[in-house]
Amino acid sequence: MSPETLVQLPTTSPSEFSPTDFDTYVMSTYGRYAITLDRGEGCRVWDSNGREYLDFVAGIATCTLGHAHPAMVEAVTQQIQKLHHVSNLYYTQEQGELAKWLVEHSCADRAFFCNSGAEANEGAIKLARKYAHTVLGIQSPVIITAHASFHGRTLATITATGQPKYQKNFNPLMPGFYYVPYNDIGALEEAIGILDQNERQVAAILLEALQGEGGVRPGDVAYFQRIREICNEKGILLIADEVQVGMGRTGKYWGYENLGIEPDIFTSAKGLGGGIPIGAMLCKSFCDVFQPGDHASTFGGNPFATGVALAVCRTLEQENLLDNVQARGEQLRSGLRALAEQYPKLIAEVRGWGLINGLVLSPEAELTSADVVKAAIEAGVLLVPAGPKVVRFVPPLTVSEAEIDQALAAVSQGLATLT
Ligand SMILES: *Cc1c(COP(=O)(O)O)cnc(C)c1O
Repeated sequence: MSPETLVQLPTTSPSEFSPTDFDTYVMSTYGRYAITLDRGEGCRVWDSNGREYLDFVAGIATCTLGHAHPAMVEAVTQQIQKLHHVSNLYYTQEQGELAKWLVEHSCADRAFFCNSGAEANEGAIKLARKYAHTVLGIQSPVIITAHASFHGRTLATITATGQPKYQKNFNPLMPGFYYVPYNDIGALEEAIGILDQNERQVAAILLEALQGEGGVRPGDVAYFQRIREICNEKGILLIADEVQVGMGRTGKYWGYENLGIEPDIFTSAKGLGGGIPIGAMLCKSFCDVFQPGDHASTFGGNPFATGVALAVCRTLEQENLLDNVQARGEQLRSGLRALAEQYPKLIAEVRGWGLINGLVLSPEAELTSADVVKAAIEAGVLLVPAGPKVVRFVPPLTVSEAEIDQALAAVSQGLATLT
């Protein structure tokens, strides 16, 4: 299609539409930085004044291939011209092929598609509850989740999320959840015992392989292996929330691969579509108890979203991006550790897997992660907090060696202005 045949959209220059105008019309559910982003390419974005930033947020671990990647541009263009939405009343090639790719590159046997991480987790919660009722014979199933977890913003998923700040003023919450500290096997075994005594039986344990929002906290291998054993012994389902750490983010396709275990159900979203809204819930065939009519989504799995996600998945594989994630992750962590040595009073620790990493500020430091993020933005690199004391680095998986060096230099410059 030639550019002339495209409909001309009315253009408002973003610089004429100020943050104040924006806030007049958009509900204030987000605290936003006072920059208006206008354009992106690779790991860089430009604001409405033409200022360039290195994007180490990537839409919060979402833009797997960065911005305007040719594979995505091509997939979007081709798919919108061919077929974009028809509902799940019919079969489409794209949905089937994406499900096949995901099954062939994970421990799962089958997939359900939706539009976001919260929705994927809702699907997992419903599947676990139906399995509990119909297979395990549990009358009031309980799902155990962890403190400092994050599973989404719907009512069921804020309930699953073990952080009171997300639940405040939204009660009554959903019944059927119980919380334990993360990476603490004794506490988990104790919780299962308490629930059993009260005839509230555990149907599932829902955990992140690495807690993203909760502070970039990697799961402990021995902890997860013991959980897998307990689940096998007791018939409990293990659900991995892979929304943030899946799709190559950790240097493996799925976060759970870092722990040497396989979940029975897992969810994906953020990086799956490279920034196009899509979510997925996958499971092993033994717990696939859904039947026609049990669960649905109008947009879920439409040919546009699945066609683009398929292009993202294939690019991840064809460009050997997992190798890049591992190498760039090590480069980034060693650079951040050098900064930690330079600022021992300010920085307590550097932790993470692949290209999800946290710069952990020391508890005694007066600075918060928000202060560091603001200074980094001033120095030309976008970062995002993961809680009040952790600065998160989640660049596109395509990030280059030179871009990591440049980001490290900018962070160093930002820290220098703060100390
Ligand atoms: C972001 C996130 C979610 C929620 O995803 P949405 O697409 O915002 O609904 C759920 N779980 C984890 C681990 C996440 O990081």
